[in-house]
Amino acid sequence: MCSTARTHNLFYATNIRWIMEGIKMDCENLAKCKFFTFISTTKTGQSAATGFAMKYCKGELRDSCVRRRVSKALGGPQYVPDNMLPNGYPLAGTNDVEWPGAVRTQVKGSA
Ligand code: SF4
Repeated sequence: MCSTARTHNLFYATNIRWIMEGIKMDCENLAKCKFFTFISTTKTGQSAATGFAMKYCKGELRDSCVRRRVSKALGGPQYVPDNMLPNGYPLAGTNDVEWPGAVRTQVKGSA
């Protein structure tokens, strides 16, 4: 094998590894999570919460996402309040007064 082919193979293998790591980092709830949908589809959401998405939904904090924990505990992303941030706090300008008791229990458990 010539050195150019070896270099190409190394380049290809490195890129594939990065891509696979990126895929592994993505949260399995991305398609159904209302938080991620919100920030992906609204200008306000994008500017306000892109940092959360990069750290939680597509990053190293995925396993500590409270939305993810509530989703697992209660049976799916549909049971997570729309206005909950990945850190378990309500979105700015909203509150948690209407969150069900089961949700509150999970949020407290992660504190
Ligand atoms: S907010 Fe949490 S549950 Fe939703 S996609 Fe991001 S990491 Fe997953």
